[in-house]
Amino acid sequence: MTGLDARRQRLLSAMGLTPWVEQGAPVAAREPGWAELESGVAACTRCPLHQTRQHGVPGVGDRHAQLLVVGEAPGAEEDRRGEPFVGRAGQLLDAMLAAIGLDRHTGVYITNVIKSRPPDNRDPRTEEITACRGWLDQQIALIEPAVILAVGRVSAQALTGTTQKMGELRGHWHAYGPAGIPLLATYHPAYLLRMPRAKALVWEDLRRLRRHLREGST
Ligand code: SF4
Repeated sequence: MTGLDARRQRLLSAMGLTPWVEQGAPVAAREPGWAELESGVAACTRCPLHQTRQHGVPGVGDRHAQLLVVGEAPGAEEDRRGEPFVGRAGQLLDAMLAAIGLDRHTGVYITNVIKSRPPDNRDPRTEEITACRGWLDQQIALIEPAVILAVGRVSAQALTGTTQKMGELRGHWHAYGPAGIPLLATYHPAYLLRMPRAKALVWEDLRRLRRHLREGST
């Protein structure tokens, strides 16, 4: 077993998930767990949101990403296309990533705390976030990101397990899960479209994130 396999196995076990390793497959061809995860999200009925969605939206990007971006929930366009962050907010997220030399397909994986759209874009309910958490934790175990960026209040509160305001959650590092993955919170791009003056704070967060990705310092 390679060092990477051993780390993945420990992380999956800590989260109560069963590691799946294809025996004898070439290393480059192995992406254990992804097919099951994506088909599982597509067919998921763990909460009532499956009744009103068009598509479960697992996520998009680099499955070996250093950075995992976690938003709130799919919106109407995301629900229609089956991809997260594809509207105006998605374009702004792409610009935020580009500002620190990243893009959604290289070194970054983008997902949401819940994978199905709440009707009328209402906030996800606590029980929906709880029902969906297993999918997110499975993604984290598969990707093993170096850093998690929680965008928006719903994501930041869910991932830090608090009810603090965004102004209190952003601006410093948190630790996520049993592995203590460094986690930053920042404002959601949809909020920035309404409140452009918050862009300066987001830029501070992005610089902190870039410094960590380059130097490993928090
Ligand atoms: S939101 Fe999550 S738990 Fe609910 S149906 Fe969609 S994938 Fe399943």
